[in-house]
Amino acid sequence: MNSPESKVTNASLFDRACELIPGGVNSPVRAFRSVGGGTPYFVESGKGAFVVDVEGRKYLDYVQSYGASIHGHAHDDVVEAIISAARKGSTFGAPTPNEVVLAQLLIDRVPGCEMIRLCSSGTEATMSALRVARGFTGRNKIVKFDGCYHGHSDGLLAGAGSGLASLSLPDSAGVSPSSIADTMVFEYNTVPTLDESVAAVIVEPVAANMNLVLPVAGFLEGLRAECDRVGALLIFDEVITGFRVGFGGASKHFGVTPDLWCFGKVIGGGLPIGAFGGRGEVMSKLAPIGPVYQAGTLSGNPVATAAGIAALSLLDESSYLMLAGRSKALGEGLSKVFSDVGVNVVVSVFESLLGLFFLDTAPRNYSESKVSGDSGLYSIFFREMLRRGVAFAPGAYEVIFPSLAHSWDDIEWTVDIASAAAGEVAK
Ligand code: PLP
Repeated sequence: MNSPESKVTNASLFDRACELIPGGVNSPVRAFRSVGGGTPYFVESGKGAFVVDVEGRKYLDYVQSYGASIHGHAHDDVVEAIISAARKGSTFGAPTPNEVVLAQLLIDRVPGCEMIRLCSSGTEATMSALRVARGFTGRNKIVKFDGCYHGHSDGLLAGAGSGLASLSLPDSAGVSPSSIADTMVFEYNTVPTLDESVAAVIVEPVAANMNLVLPVAGFLEGLRAECDRVGALLIFDEVITGFRVGFGGASKHFGVTPDLWCFGKVIGGGLPIGAFGGRGEVMSKLAPIGPVYQAGTLSGNPVATAAGIAALSLLDESSYLMLAGRSKALGEGLSKVFSDVGVNVVVSVFESLLGLFFLDTAPRNYSESKVSGDSGLYSIFFREMLRRGVAFAPGAYEVIFPSLAHSWDDIEWTVDIASAAAGEVAK
């Protein structure tokens, strides 16, 4: 037994973690540096909408693994699927039936997506989608948008949103100029004029790494048309939006069909996974049937695919309606509590994604979103919420993720807590 003196606390774990792990965290967005510093809570367990830290403090969790946990934490069906898959062996280096089942589930839900390759993270998915786009077109240049995050591969760490935006890093050190020489960065919501050197345009169809920025009418359609005009491929990075903003993701929602999709998060039911897919003619460029190499020891992992299948099988149209309804109510509640204390905010809500901006109007791109991020007001709100037991992400450029486990009571309670926290922001 630990003596009371040696009891594990968030602070004691963080002190040790900082000696062993750079910054004490295994992903920079988990640190509290951009919200005034301090000790992150170390999660001991999670169930449904809540997590409990190592000191026994319970938080209503709107981080939900940055969107991976659409059913909340430790959903019984997902846990059972993981246990029974693990009992049969967790990795083989040979194909397993679940890979086919998950590929079919994804393809059935996403119109236009004909073939899928599974990998182990969203970063791998975007990196590999770009490679196959280059292999297919025989071109090198890629286009991305300022503030969109597509994982941490070298060529995509330019104007990259998320943790880089929170830490005010324009780009990452350690990325050679040649790795990003073929990356062109444009402003979100403006259709760039392309030329025949462009292999692909990669975009978050709803941008959720510069806080939440919605596509203006015509933006996604314009990208599709411009790609078609010059023969470039359009890649939708749906690592966040896939299977979250509706049954068929953002492409189905907006009726714009890209050539390639990238998925992650929700499709792994909380286990490490990624996937990219698209038109058969493009995907057929992949090894072993084509010349574009892409691989992974743990790709299509049987435990991760079992979790993903369980998670996706629990979702139907009514789940999304329920989630969207609660998210809308949360958005309205947050707007009201700030307006009651005279603080201008805009709460953007898109299905189950929420963005809170200390602005008068919803931003259309990263520069506009940054005005809210730079105000410092989110840090106050974040800390006041956390102190009262509601966990939002520790970064002004992350979105709020309600899950299917968040009840109406949870939403109401969040709004009550936010009312007190908004009062502190107003001071
Ligand atoms: N693409 C988007 C839109 C993301 O939000 C993320 C991660 O947050 C990624 C790609 C990278 O995914 P992963 O963190 O699984 O590598």
